[in-house]
Amino acid sequence: MNTVFNHPVDAIRFVLAETDADDRSHLCDVIRQVEDIKSGRTPRLLPTVDLEKYLDDQCETYVSRAVWRDQRLSAIETLYETFGQQTVFLPVKNCSKRPVLKKWPKVRFRDTCHPAYAKLLLGGNISILQGDVSQHLVSIDVDDDEDFAEFLSLNPHLRESVMTSGARGKNLWVRMLGPYPPLSVVHRRGSQQGWGEFRSAGGQTIVDGMHPSLVPYSIASSNQSAGILEVAYADILWPDSVVPPHETQKKNRMSRKNSRSGKNHRNLVAGDREVDRIKAEFDMVAFVRELGFEITLSESGGMICCPFHDDRTPSCWVQPDHFFCFGCEAVGDVFEFLKRLRNLPFRNSLIYIKSCLARGFCRLT
Ligand SMILES: [Zn+2]
Repeated sequence: MNTVFNHPVDAIRFVLAETDADDRSHLCDVIRQVEDIKSGRTPRLLPTVDLEKYLDDQCETYVSRAVWRDQRLSAIETLYETFGQQTVFLPVKNCSKRPVLKKWPKVRFRDTCHPAYAKLLLGGNISILQGDVSQHLVSIDVDDDEDFAEFLSLNPHLRESVMTSGARGKNLWVRMLGPYPPLSVVHRRGSQQGWGEFRSAGGQTIVDGMHPSLVPYSIASSNQSAGILEVAYADILWPDSVVPPHETQKKNRMSRKNSRSGKNHRNLVAGDREVDRIKAEFDMVAFVRELGFEITLSESGGMICCPFHDDRTPSCWVQPDHFFCFGCEAVGDVFEFLKRLRNLPFRNSLIYIKSCLARGFCRLT
């Protein structure tokens, strides 16, 4: 489980091949046992009267699981082709809208390349983490089909983009060029009645699996080959009857990086750019090893036993710029790591890391 891949689909292929090998060896075991019983070599222990039927059932299970794997792989490949190869897909509980990971807003693309993540993704519904983390993918979610038709007639060129649907209404997917508002509810003017949502940074929207009302989610596009359209927020026209997202968000600054957390207190200490530069130069993998953690290294990071939960097999993935624990979902950058491990405030961590870099210590080469 320490192999890390360059793309999530490779991790999924790896996990599926592993389960295929397990299923195969299980089936071989069953065949061997049945043969042994038939030839009288071993006493009968299998819980069935009809050995042939038992064997048939086991073969059928094997085949149906193999078919399921093929379908799942091809569905997930289609998702990446449709929404972009660098999209952050989130595992969501079956027939639910709730992501499996509690810290889902913090998942980044690299995290999704790990086999442990692939296993989660194969398990149930799949959603997209929206906004800058997924190359500025957003969706316009309209509750009512008539309202959706009205919206499309105002924006006819958007018909070409990808649409998804669940139990009711539709989501129209676009990639934003330039700044755009974060996740916002879109109300009808002069009332609290909902019209839909601008599902953006801070939001996640299901694109694959089963709605809680048991309606399957589907991709519905008038032009399958078109893919996601790129548009500027200002070019989207909103019906007169609704309060558009930028009016709702007047108080909040429009920003491309609106989903970043922990930003405000950091601004007091150093400019964001300086922190970003320091993080880009610092090698967290080398640092964690210097701290005395036993680390199993791979090309893009390493696994350690998580210091934030009772972890016996390494489940915390440390990458040069952040860590992510598949056990307790601890996640963050080196400042978060030091805060949690040593109770070190951000200001002190920053001074410490800067002095490390000044001495050429744990500097990324
Ligand atoms: Zn953990």
